[in-house]
Amino acid sequence: MDSIDKLVNIFRRFPTVGSRTAGRFVYYLMKQPKEKIDELITAVLELKNKIKLCPLCFNPFEGENMLCSICQNPSRNKNLLCVIEKETDLLSIESTKKFNGLYFILGGTVATMRKEDISQLRIEELKKRLAGNNFTEIIVALNPTPEGRATSVLVEQTIKTAAPLPVPRITHLARGIPVGGELEYTDEETLESALEGRK
Ligand SMILES: [Zn+2]
Repeated sequence: MDSIDKLVNIFRRFPTVGSRTAGRFVYYLMKQPKEKIDELITAVLELKNKIKLCPLCFNPFEGENMLCSICQNPSRNKNLLCVIEKETDLLSIESTKKFNGLYFILGGTVATMRKEDISQLRIEELKKRLAGNNFTEIIVALNPTPEGRATSVLVEQTIKTAAPLPVPRITHLARGIPVGGELEYTDEETLESALEGRK
């Protein structure tokens, strides 16, 4: 495989990037001076070397601290937890500025309750997180897709069995997020009212 095809194939694996966009990226890079390419390579390498996962919420972050800036912020509400599918959902919710609790990134959603599917989610990590805290409310904020709904059931079961008593109140985002839609693509205002109207 020549270097163009090789790079096109790499970019094609990126989320939302198809063959045509991948091709455009490659031709764009070909036109760049050597310094720009080096800058890109260094930035990609740094991403892997400097970024670590927060052991509480699994949000990637950079720096010397043990925890991410949200988990170590003393003004966040430590009794309120929001369970989400992925990192970008955290960014979407943070951008509304309507949520002052903590997060837990599940790492995906599953369509079936088969063991091999479930093992891809951070269910064991969630159990540990629940066991060590006294949350009064947990918002299960997964996308209203079939996978999101199936995973919500699993998360709720986990909360009911693994959280210390009294069982925290389990809430969901209110309507407003289109059925089959995703948090990541929901506009700020809609997400804001879905958070405020949670039940
Ligand atoms: Zn964190």
